[in-house]
Amino acid sequence: MPATIIDGKAVAASIREDAAARAAEYREKFGRAPGLAVVIVGDDPASRVYVNNKKKACAGCDIYSEEHALPATTTEDELLDLVRRLNADPKIDGVLVQLPLPNHISEDKVIEAISPSKDVDGFHPINVGSLMVGKPALRPCTPAGIMELIHRTGIELKGKRAVVVGRSNIVGKPVSIMLLAEHATVTICHSRTEDLPSVCREADVLVVAVGRPKMVKGDWIKPGAVVIDVGTNRVGGKKLVGDVDFDEAVEVAGAITPVPGGVGPMTIAMLMKNCVEAAFAARS
Ligand code: NDP
Repeated sequence: MPATIIDGKAVAASIREDAAARAAEYREKFGRAPGLAVVIVGDDPASRVYVNNKKKACAGCDIYSEEHALPATTTEDELLDLVRRLNADPKIDGVLVQLPLPNHISEDKVIEAISPSKDVDGFHPINVGSLMVGKPALRPCTPAGIMELIHRTGIELKGKRAVVVGRSNIVGKPVSIMLLAEHATVTICHSRTEDLPSVCREADVLVVAVGRPKMVKGDWIKPGAVVIDVGTNRVGGKKLVGDVDFDEAVEVAGAITPVPGGVGPMTIAMLMKNCVEAAFAARS
């Protein structure tokens, strides 16, 4: 029987609805909407699309948003100054600096300048460390979205084998820690992993975040496994494909995310959730 398709668009819509309801509750209680500042430096077209989508999502959730569009010639000090001003701005609860930044600006320095309590991307070392030691924190949006999708399949993670392919700081590592926190037995794979297909075949939950179109084949998947495909690869100009060979995998897996329409829509939805929760946390 083909796998259940995990509908990321529908799950993301329900998360955004919840965020909108929480934002309304916040406005009612504190007399203003939660606020997000989005900073973009330079004119990278992909970054521009992401920023526009984030602003649109804010409008849909009744979250106040403001954009700070800076020229590519902005110095590191100028950007750090802006971040500090936003940290101190009482109508702003979340500060997001769109990455990548121009080469002359240190992304690490900028991320570290964002107040951890306003770090809605969950990239600040304080939030990363809190995630690592199991303390409450703003969690990075894509991994948090992946966990939400896994939960909605109804799988009980305790004691299950989870394999994560990819060890990036923004997806692979944090999602591995989140799976571990829920008592899965986690294996993290990367470009030097030997016999990757065999490792993947052990997974009850397989999360793939590599950036290689259709790398994971149907016979790498344990029958009935939950497969989360994070990859977004443009092939042949426009078409978006994942890291998993969907047509093969759907015949073997128990549940699988499509690309597009799986993990992709979850990232912005979790960002909305983080903004609202950061706003409430600042008042507690
Ligand atoms: P990175 O390039 O930062 O990391 C890729 C990881 O894949 C690395 O750990 C690398 O290993 C590993 N890898 C590369 N080749 C292989 C291989 N042949 N076998 C096993 N592992 C391999 O990517 P990201 O984590 O940032 O993103 C991964 C994918 O997810 C991309 O397609 C990206 O576009 C997508 N993505 C989607 C998001 C969304 O939908 N919202 C958000 C973020 C990412 P090593 O460490 O050894 O180099």
